[in-house]
Amino acid sequence: MIDSAEARRTNIALLIDELVDANHILFHQNVVDGFGHVSARHPERADRFFLSRSMAPALVRSADILEFDLDGAVAEPDGRAVYLERFIHSEIYRARPDVAAVVHSHSASVIPFGVVRNAPLRAISHMCGFLGEGAPVFEIRDAAGDGTDLLIRNRALGAALAKSLQGAAAVLMRGHGATMVGTSLRQAVFRAVYTETGARLQAEALRLGPVTFLTAAEAAAAAQTNDAQINRAWDLWRVQARAHAGTPQKDYLRE
Ligand SMILES: [Zn+2]
Repeated sequence: MIDSAEARRTNIALLIDELVDANHILFHQNVVDGFGHVSARHPERADRFFLSRSMAPALVRSADILEFDLDGAVAEPDGRAVYLERFIHSEIYRARPDVAAVVHSHSASVIPFGVVRNAPLRAISHMCGFLGEGAPVFEIRDAAGDGTDLLIRNRALGAALAKSLQGAAAVLMRGHGATMVGTSLRQAVFRAVYTETGARLQAEALRLGPVTFLTAAEAAAAAQTNDAQINRAWDLWRVQARAHAGTPQKDYLRE
C-alpha cells in the first residue's frame, strides 16, 4: 500500500516528467528556441512552482527542474544558474491563483502584434478562441521607462506584467515576446502553440483584406470546446517531441 507521502512524491515526479515533455513540445512546435521557458505550479503548495535551471528548453531533463518560491528564489539553492526572467512566473502565480502553468516565449509570428498599435492579436480561428477579442500588450516603458533590455528581470517588472495580463490567457510583450497561462500545464502549452499559429494566420489574412474575426461569444464557445480536446493534441505533440528529442529512448521507458 502506498502511503500519502509516497503518493505525493509520485504526483510531483509525474508533474516534473510532464514539465520535461512540455519543454520539448514547445521547442518542436516552434514556440521556443534556445530561449523561452515553461513552469508548473506545485500541486500541493500554491506558493511554489517548478521551472528548469537556465538552459535551452529542448535539452531539459528532469534533473534540471528546480523548485522556486513566489519571490523567484530557488527553494534549495545549489549554485546552478536560473533564468533571468523567472519573475514572469513567480509574479503571475502570485497574482493569478487560477493559473497552474506559465509559458514564456519569443516566438517570431507573435512579435509584430506587440509592436503595431491598433493590430491586436485576436481569435481568428476556433483553435485560438482563448484569445477572445484581443490579447493585452505589456509596454515595459510604462513600468520602467526607457533604456531597459526589455527583460522581466525583477519582481516589480513581473508584477507589472501580471497586471497587464489581468484575467487573460495571453499577454504580448512589446518588442520581446509573449506569455501564456493555463489552468493546467497542458492548457498553457496548447495556448502557447495556438498563439503562435493564430499570429501567423492573422498576419497572412491581414495581407488579403479586412478580416472577420470570431465574436466574443464564438471565441468563448470555441475555447470551451477546445479545452475538452487538449489531450488529443498533447498526445500527438509528445510523441513527435520524444521521437525527435536527443534524449536516449530509455529515459522514456519507465512509462
Ligand atoms: Zn523573454
